[in-house]
Amino acid sequence: MGNYQICDFCGNLSEKRSRKMCASCEEDYRQIRDIVEAKPDTMVIDISRQTGIRVSKIIAFAQKGFFILNEGTIEGLD
Ligand SMILES: [Zn+2]
Repeated sequence: MGNYQICDFCGNLSEKRSRKMCASCEEDYRQIRDIVEAKPDTMVIDISRQTGIRVSKIIAFAQKGFFILNEGTIEGLD
């Protein structure tokens, strides 16, 4: 396992990186973060629509503390 790790977000085995996520999840994270930084009140569902990233994954990033979701932004989602 030395140079590999399981991605926290998609479960794929990937090369060890500084963050506990694979390259494709890091790319997803960067897209989400850009939107949240530009418009902090963007709803999760809108982030999902703009990026094509699943809502559940966006929430997973938030729960791991990678960015802050404003209160109310996850209301009404499945
Ligand atoms: Zn991943």
